[in-house]
Amino acid sequence: MQIPGPTNIPDRILRAMDRPTIDHRSAEFARLARECLEGMKAIFKMSRGHVFIYPASGTGAWEAAIVNTFSPGERVLMFETGHFASLWRGIAENFGLEVDFVPGDWRRGVDPATVEAKLIEDARREIKAVVCVHNETSTGVTSRIGDVRRAMDAAKHPALLIVDVISSLASMDYRQAEWGVDVTVAGSQKGLMLPPGLSFNAVSEKALSVSRTAQLPRAFWSWENMLQPNQSGFFPYTPATNLLFGLREAISMLVNEEGLENVFRRHHRHAEATRCAVRAWGLELLCQEPKEYSNSLTAVLMPGGFDEAGFRDLVLENFNLSLGAGLGKMKGRAFRIGHLGDFNDLMLCGTLCGIEMGLGKFGVPFRSGGVGAAMDYLNRN
Ligand code: PLP
Repeated sequence: MQIPGPTNIPDRILRAMDRPTIDHRSAEFARLARECLEGMKAIFKMSRGHVFIYPASGTGAWEAAIVNTFSPGERVLMFETGHFASLWRGIAENFGLEVDFVPGDWRRGVDPATVEAKLIEDARREIKAVVCVHNETSTGVTSRIGDVRRAMDAAKHPALLIVDVISSLASMDYRQAEWGVDVTVAGSQKGLMLPPGLSFNAVSEKALSVSRTAQLPRAFWSWENMLQPNQSGFFPYTPATNLLFGLREAISMLVNEEGLENVFRRHHRHAEATRCAVRAWGLELLCQEPKEYSNSLTAVLMPGGFDEAGFRDLVLENFNLSLGAGLGKMKGRAFRIGHLGDFNDLMLCGTLCGIEMGLGKFGVPFRSGGVGAAMDYLNRN
C-alpha cells in the first residue's frame, strides 16, 4: 500500500496494540496517557500549551480547531492549495464563518507575500485566523509555514495561525513553538504509522485563552472539558485505549530510537529519489515550486488522454500495489505516490518498479529508467 496515508503499520506497533483493553480510569492508563501527551509535545516541537487527543479521524480535529477558537460570523483567511484546503473551507462555512478563500492553481503552496498583503489590508483587525494546510496531500505541495509566520509578524497582525499537518507530521520538519503556530491539526494514520482513529490538536497558550471566550457551541470537541482530566492522565470520555498503546510505541520509535531529524532525512531522501524517477520517465510533477516539494508524497500528472484511475487499477490488478487517487480537480489527471511512514529503500524501489512496469502496460508514452535513476540517487546519498 503506497497511498499517502493510511500508511503501512510496523509489526512492532501492531504487537503493541494487540493486548486486552485496560481500565481507562486506572493508574496504568494514566501513565500511558501522560507518556502519549508528553511524547506528542516532542513530535510537535512544543514545550508549552497542550496537546488534545481525540478518538476521531483528522476531520474531527479540524472541527475541534474551529469550534474551540471562533465565534459565529468571524473572518478567517484560507488558501486554495488543493482538495483538503477546500474541504476545510467547507467546514468553516458550515459553522457560519466568513471565509476569505485565496484562489490557487493546486501547483503551489500558500504565498507568504499574499498573507502579508491580506493582513495589512485588514486595518480593522477582523481576520481572526490564518489557516493553512502544511502538506497538501492531494498535490504533493508543502507550504512554508515559517515564512507564513514571518509574514504575519511583518504585518503586525494578531490573528491566530492554524495549520493542518495531517500528512507531514513525523515525516517533515515541523516546529509548533518556533513558528508560533497556535493550533496544529494532526492524525494518526500517516507519519505516525498507526491505524486511522486518533487525531490531535496541539494548542498554544494564546489559542487556549481565545477558546475561553469563543462562542461557537461545542461538546465532544471541547478543549476546556478535556484539560482538567488530562492533567491527571484521564479523558472526559472513553479514549481509544489500544491506539494509545500503539502511539506510545510509535513515539518511542520516532523520537527515542531513530530520532526525528533522521526520520526527516529519510523522508527527504526517498522523496528526492522518487522525483529522480519521475523526471527520468519524462513525466511531470504536479508541484511546480522546488522549494515546496513534499517529502511525504509525490503527485504525478498523467500525459493527456491517459486516465490515472485506469492506470492505478492496472497497477493494483497486476502488482498488488495501491497508489493514491487523483482527488478533486486532479481526479483523472494525477496519481499520487505515498513515501511516508514505515518505509525503506527496497519498499521504494518496489513501488517505483510497479509504476514503471504499469506505465509500459498501460501504453503511456514514457522513457524507461526511472527505477535506475532512483537507485543511482539512493546509492549516491
Ligand atoms: N487534511 C489532510 C492534509 C489530509 O491528508 C486528510 C486526509 O487524508 C485530511 C485532512 C482529512 O483527514 P481524515 O480523512 O483523517 O478525516
